[in-house]
Amino acid sequence: MPEQFLLEVNGLKKHFQLGSNKVLKAVDGISFGIKKGETFGLVGESGCGKSTAGRTLIRLYEPTEGSITFNGKDISHVSGKQLRSVSRDMQMVFQDPYASLNPRMTVGNIIAEGIDIHGLHSGAQRKERVHELLRAVGLNEEHANRFPHEFSGGQRQRIGIARALAIEPQFIIADEPISALDVSVQAQVVNLFKNLQKERGLTYLFIAHDLAMVKHISDRIGVMYLGKMVEVTTSDKLYSNPLHPYTQSLLSAIPIPDPEIERTRERIILQGEVPSPVSPPSGCPFRTRCPKAMKECAESMPEFKEIEPGHFAACHLY
Ligand code: SF4
Repeated sequence: MPEQFLLEVNGLKKHFQLGSNKVLKAVDGISFGIKKGETFGLVGESGCGKSTAGRTLIRLYEPTEGSITFNGKDISHVSGKQLRSVSRDMQMVFQDPYASLNPRMTVGNIIAEGIDIHGLHSGAQRKERVHELLRAVGLNEEHANRFPHEFSGGQRQRIGIARALAIEPQFIIADEPISALDVSVQAQVVNLFKNLQKERGLTYLFIAHDLAMVKHISDRIGVMYLGKMVEVTTSDKLYSNPLHPYTQSLLSAIPIPDPEIERTRERIILQGEVPSPVSPPSGCPFRTRCPKAMKECAESMPEFKEIEPGHFAACHLY
């Protein structure tokens, strides 16, 4: 790839063996890169493989095939000490802040878990670091002695973010970090992510199931369908000129605040369910729901290629 990426993914696959002759192809050959300091939004319906992709990148799962390069190093199959060093640089924020926080630990100890594992600070320094992190995410020092159940959903996600920041990672994978929150709180958490990025020079992979959620935070966006990447481009281009019929249908589902435009615009209603990744359709994985499907779509898989500068898509229409 011509550009310098902090994280580069090439042909990444994560397959799960189900019984003796079934394979779930959760992630099936995706390629993209994330530049230092940018936010890459990864979007797709539930079951498209985006969360599995995130977990494979951070090496919670072993990749089946393909490569993951971080800071110029191939981390696809590292283990032991090298894997621990990767986990210092890459952290994850999870969707359900309550499930991901140990209910029996104080917030202070939850936030300091990474500091303890990596032996970064102890005593007064550790305490000061926890207080600094609480302030950074908009909470108070007194919150360190409380337990997760004493907080609202938005506050719990702030605790999850503080925990991820504790060991000063360069890269954060946020897996649907706002989906479980009230709409009124979602914008606050997105703003917190943005401010922390500016202050700390962070790079994000922001995973979400709908395009409206990633719109305001992403520099570039990748759209996944059934384990494949179907479109990647800048946020602006994706919203102004979506090329892939799947992206077009996702965008048409986002309500527009202007009632006049909302009343007259054409909506693309997708028919049917997402097919099973255990037995995907032949050819283009989207062909069973695509309003523009043609004969050749069932016969061959469209190549993921650059259609215009910086705009990639996998569709036989181009
Ligand atoms: Fe639709 Fe065919 Fe393009 Fe797939 S390749 S998105 S089925 S037009």
